[in-house]
Amino acid sequence: MKHSILTHLAHAGRTSAVDGGQPVNPPVVRASTVLFDSVAQMREMRSRRGSERLFTYGARGNPTAFALEDMVTELEGGYRTRLFPSGLAAAAMTLLAYLRPGEHVLLPDCVYEPVRKLAEGFLAQHGIAASFYAADGHDLQARLRRETRLVYVEAPGSLAYEMCDLPAIAEIAHRHGALVAADNTWGSGLLYQPLALGADISLMAATKYLSGHSDVMMGTVCTLEAAWAPLASVADAFGITVSPDDAYLVQRGMRSLGARLSQHERGALVVAHWLRTRPEVAEVFCPALPGDPGHALWQRDCHGTNGLLSFSLRAAAPDAARGFEVTAGEGVARRALEARLDPA
Ligand SMILES: *Cc1c(COP(=O)(O)O)cnc(C)c1O
Repeated sequence: MKHSILTHLAHAGRTSAVDGGQPVNPPVVRASTVLFDSVAQMREMRSRRGSERLFTYGARGNPTAFALEDMVTELEGGYRTRLFPSGLAAAAMTLLAYLRPGEHVLLPDCVYEPVRKLAEGFLAQHGIAASFYAADGHDLQARLRRETRLVYVEAPGSLAYEMCDLPAIAEIAHRHGALVAADNTWGSGLLYQPLALGADISLMAATKYLSGHSDVMMGTVCTLEAAWAPLASVADAFGITVSPDDAYLVQRGMRSLGARLSQHERGALVVAHWLRTRPEVAEVFCPALPGDPGHALWQRDCHGTNGLLSFSLRAAAPDAARGFEVTAGEGVARRALEARLDPA
């Protein structure tokens, strides 16, 4: 893990909204209407808010959310960030921001299921075509259409954690005149950095590792400067904002992101190795494991792994999973305890 980023996470997104000392985290500023000194000042601020981030009305964001945006921008290494009420909303608004009727988006076969449903339902109904490429990206070039404007990436993929070669995908997409958007929920900014690997847009379900405590829903979208305008204008057009209380919770969660991910990694690897020793288990899906098909790409592009892995059982019967649950419950609990006792 890059220590410079961990240090940034401790300091990023501070505001100095009070006289005297400065709080470590920004205060929760609840607001709809905003007061100005004069009509002239109000007009002047409103004239600039199309391109600048200004506190002019609650639907345009609030200072607590702005602080979180800055923190996410630093983590993702992008230009600016917008916040959405869920990870799915972040993905949906990304698709709407960069696609027009008549255009086409390529999604990976492993894509988070609700995004597939959105593409096959809402987008299709609105004249935006979607098709799917292999999770490892090998058939991407062949699946491009003349009207392909966006290539969506998930690395590793949802559920089976297939890795893809993002720099290679980005090169193919850019040569074709398409943008690249990556779902970075798995990497959460620390383990994977799509914008540094060639993506134009990186989105995350902050609901997951960023908030880290299962008590808040949120999505983030961070882009490079050249890709920023369509995202900002869609978010403004739809009046999308998040509550300052939720923004505060996510920011507080992010302060400990590095420590939590390290522990997740330790536990997941212990469990993954244990699963590989089990006779009931056919395959363990985790690119951090040597021998996994995505291991070389994971070593090249990722800075660690998180708590996510999956596996298949040799027995196909529906009862097999239920039977294994008991074995795993005991085995995993013991291994996790060992991992805590022996952090090597
Ligand atoms: C959970 C998840 C989302 C959606 O996030 P929500 O906040 O639950 O809407 C999107 N992508 C991935 C990979 C996820 O795991």
